[in-house]
Amino acid sequence: MRPFGSRSWPDDLLIVSLSARGLHVKLATLRTWCSNNFILVNLVRTIILIYGKILIKTEEKYVGVILRTDTQNMLADHYKAKARTARHCGHRIWAIEDMTGWLMPKELKQLYMARVDCHLIHGCEIPPDSEDVHVMQLCQVQISFLRQMLNIHCHSMIVPLFTETGIKPPRVCCLLLVLSHLMHWRGRSNNIKKLWAKYLIKAATRLPFQCPILVLTMFTTIGDIKDYSKLVHKLMLEWLQGEIDSSEKLYLLHDHRETQKDKGPAQTQKHQEAITSIKLSTHLLALEILRYVNHGNQPVPRSDRLCRFCRKEVESPEHALITCTSSDEVVQLRVIFLE
Ligand SMILES: [Zn+2]
Repeated sequence: MRPFGSRSWPDDLLIVSLSARGLHVKLATLRTWCSNNFILVNLVRTIILIYGKILIKTEEKYVGVILRTDTQNMLADHYKAKARTARHCGHRIWAIEDMTGWLMPKELKQLYMARVDCHLIHGCEIPPDSEDVHVMQLCQVQISFLRQMLNIHCHSMIVPLFTETGIKPPRVCCLLLVLSHLMHWRGRSNNIKKLWAKYLIKAATRLPFQCPILVLTMFTTIGDIKDYSKLVHKLMLEWLQGEIDSSEKLYLLHDHRETQKDKGPAQTQKHQEAITSIKLSTHLLALEILRYVNHGNQPVPRSDRLCRFCRKEVESPEHALITCTSSDEVVQLRVIFLE
């Protein structure tokens, strides 16, 4: 042991180096020696002492990514910082409306993709999202923005936010991005870090829908990864449509597929908001209002949520807008609209 500059005892070892490079060389020599002699270093009892004017920190920012050494997940603060920045950028977008007037959801989506989404996916390829607690912060920022974009209340269903805007949930979006990165890396090298691969496989099991286990071995090809990406995207679409079709509230959207180009005739804020509230069942008609429990009332069965004018049929959007004739005011408005 003496040749590489150390003091050793039967069960202990002291290595002294005056430079980082020197320490690196000595540790490499120690590893080789231990390997040849079947000895394992006890990491728990290993201590590092640093002399001199070296700044030791527990937090550092590297290429925009915040790293911490005193948290279980070294990127925990990065998630928090990105969620905070994304929320702030979202507020800045709403501030734009004060100067420009009402912005269409299409325009808001463009601003969201440019100023908010980039923070939600920032650095996603470094640690695949295997832990829920950190990703939840990003999801909350996205959901809050999309609800405000569609002007619907904070208890509305989440799935229609994605189907109506064409924006993917953060977990799915990040996984697809990581897989595309993996295809790029796979073209250059066959080496995949085991721990990183483990996180990626775990992230694929955390999607909001069932997805086959991602198999990553030395023999996994770029084609395999590409097929898996397509499968994730396909399963996401099926999951969204399945959630819509199985929801009693969203009966107007059942089996309905709308292309992004087919967004109807609504060109004003009130028309847009009215159509959205009817489609997503966030309106104030009896069908929706009497669904909820509050301090004074129990939920009312669907068949008993009667129209406030005729008291005969369920007060649904189609009844109030098309068939009810008990209110002269409503009938007159309907005639004017249809003319
Ligand atoms: Zn009626």
